[in-house]
Amino acid sequence: MTHFPRQSVFVDQDVVGQILGVIDGAKQYVVIVSPYLDMWQHAQNAIGRAVKRGVDVRMFLRNDRDKPPLDQIRWLFSNKVKVFAVQRLHAKIYMNEQTVLISSMNFTESSAMNSLEIAYLVGDPEHAKRVREYVKGNITSSAVQVPTTSEIPPSVEQANPIGRAPVNVAVGFCIRCKRNLYFEPTKPLCDDCYDSWARYGNEDYPEVVCHSCGQPATVTKARPLCAPCYSQLR
Ligand SMILES: [Zn+2]
Ligand SMILES: [Zn+2]
Repeated sequence: MTHFPRQSVFVDQDVVGQILGVIDGAKQYVVIVSPYLDMWQHAQNAIGRAVKRGVDVRMFLRNDRDKPPLDQIRWLFSNKVKVFAVQRLHAKIYMNEQTVLISSMNFTESSAMNSLEIAYLVGDPEHAKRVREYVKGNITSSAVQVPTTSEIPPSVEQANPIGRAPVNVAVGFCIRCKRNLYFEPTKPLCDDCYDSWARYGNEDYPEVVCHSCGQPATVTKARPLCAPCYSQLR
C-alpha cells in the first residue's frame, strides 16, 4: 500500500512554509540543495533549532562567482553545518529522513519574499528514493566540501587548507589584517586594506599572512599564498 500525502503541490508563499517544515521536522538530518544561499531570518532560525536538536545539516550550493554572504557562511560553520560546493548545480531539493521536497525555490530571502515558486512534496516512496539516490550520487559526487575547521577562526591558529579544495565559496584571509574574506587570490586584501595598499599600489609590498591558510608568511598582493598553499593549488 502506497501512502500519498493529501496535498503534494504547493505554490508561492506556501512553498516557504513547506521548506521550513522540512527543516523543523528533521530528527536526523537535513539536506538543502540550492544553487544560491541568502537566508532570511526564519530560515536561519529553523536551521539553528535543527542544529540544537542534534540534526546533521548539510548544504549543497553552487560553486559560483556569486557567493553567499560571508557572515552567513561563518554562521553556518560556527553551527557545524557542512557546506558543499557543486559545479553546475541547478536543482533545488529539500529533504530530511522522512520528507523529500522538490522545488523551484532557491534558499534565498528574495525567493522567499517575492518570487513565484512551486514545490512538489514527493509522496511515492519509490520516487522519493530515486531523488535521494540522485542527491547521494550525482550531486554528492560533484561536490567539494567547503574547507573549514568547523569554525571560521577569529584567530589565525586554525588554518584553512584551501589547496585541498579549490572552491569559489571557500574562505580565506586578508593578507594584511587577517580578517576573513572569500578565498580569491586575485583579491587578497579586504576593502580597508586595499584602500591603504592602493595609495602606493606596490604589488610586491610584503604583507603579513597567507591568503589561504592565514599563517604568517612572506606574501605580497602579487603572490598572496605561502609556498605550501601555492603548491597545493597546482
Ligand atoms: Zn585587511
Ligand atoms: Zn598558506
